[in-house]
Amino acid sequence: MFRTNITAMQGYVPGEQPQGMEYVKLNTNENPYPCSPTVKAAIGRVLQVGLQRYPDPLATAFRERAAALLKDEVPGITPDWIMCGNGSDDILTIVTRSFVAPGGLIRFPRPSYVLYNTLAAIQGADSETVEFESDWTLDERFTATDERLQLAFLPNPNSPTGTVIAPSGVAHLAAALPCPLIVDEAYADFAETNCLGLVATNERILVTRTLSKSYSLAGLRFGFVVAQPQVIEQLNKVKDSYNCDSLSIAGATAAIDDQAHFVRTRDAILATRQRMTSALRGLGFDCIDSQANFVWCRHGQRDSRELYQQLKDAGVLVRYMNYAGWGEGLRISVGSDEQCDLLLAKLAAIV
Ligand code: PMP
Repeated sequence: MFRTNITAMQGYVPGEQPQGMEYVKLNTNENPYPCSPTVKAAIGRVLQVGLQRYPDPLATAFRERAAALLKDEVPGITPDWIMCGNGSDDILTIVTRSFVAPGGLIRFPRPSYVLYNTLAAIQGADSETVEFESDWTLDERFTATDERLQLAFLPNPNSPTGTVIAPSGVAHLAAALPCPLIVDEAYADFAETNCLGLVATNERILVTRTLSKSYSLAGLRFGFVVAQPQVIEQLNKVKDSYNCDSLSIAGATAAIDDQAHFVRTRDAILATRQRMTSALRGLGFDCIDSQANFVWCRHGQRDSRELYQQLKDAGVLVRYMNYAGWGEGLRISVGSDEQCDLLLAKLAAIV
C-alpha cells in the first residue's frame, strides 16, 4: 500500500445510521417532520422527463429562487452570489480545496464539527483548535496571526453546543482574521440571528447553509454557500461539474418555495426544543440553551456513555460525544412531540 497523508489519518466517522432497525432516531439532527409535499411532485416531474441528460451544472433554478428569498437579508444578492453542493459537507470540501494548500493551517473552535479536522488532514494541512470562552464567544486566540493560516471555520450555531456568536461578534472575528472565514450555518434557521447580511459588505465571509435540517431533506443532499460573486467564481472552478443531480435541484427548489411549510415545521421544533430543555433540566441534566435543533446535555450524576447505551437498548438513539481534554456529553436532536415524550419517559426510568 502506498503511504500518503490519507494513510496516516483517521477518517471522519458520521453518526450512526442503522439500516433496517427502528429507533427513535435523535442522533444526527434530522427533521422529524416530512418535507413539503411539493418536493415529491417536483421530483416526479423530473422523473417523467427522464434522467438521460446531465443536470444544470450551476443549479440555476435553485439559485434564482434562493436569491429572491434572501434579497432582504443580503442587499444586492443575485444568483451569482450562490453556489450549490451535494449537502453542505460538499461545500465545506470545496472551500477547503479552494483556499488551503498542503502545509497550510485551518483554525476552528473546540468543541465543534469534527469534519473540519478531516478536511484539513485530506488536504495535507494542519488543524488548530481554539476553545470557547465561558460565554461561548471566541477571544483573540481565534484571530491570531500565523503565516500558515489559510482558512477558519465557525459553526454558528455551533455543534454540539447549540450556542451562537452574534453577527457583530462574527464581523469582528472576520475583520481580525488574515484569511477567509466560513460561517457554517447548517442550523441557523433555528436561531434568532444569522450572518448572511455580513456577506454583502465582506468579501472574506462565506456563509454555508443546508436543506438537510430545517427543510427535512437530509436524504436528498443539498446545500449552498453565499459569498460575493468574485469568490463564488473561484469556487465554481473547483467543484465537480455536476455536483448536484437533477432530482435534488428540483426537490430543493420546490422546498424553498414552500415557506409556509418551512415556518410551520420550524416553529414546531422550536416549541419542542423549549419543552425538552426544561424537562431534561427537571431530570437532573445540565443543558446549554440551544439555538439549533438539538440540545447538548450532561447528567449531574450519571455517566454519559452509559446513558447513551441504556437509551439505545431502550430503542432511543442519541449521540454520545467525547472531546478529549474538553469534555463529554449527549447531543440529543429535537424530534417530534411524540418522540420527545418517549425520550423523556425512557430517561425518567433510567435516571
Ligand atoms: N455543518 C454542521 C455543523 C453539521 O452538523 C452538519 C451535519 N452533519 C453539516 C455541516 C453538514 O450537513 P449536510 O452535509 O447534510 O448539509
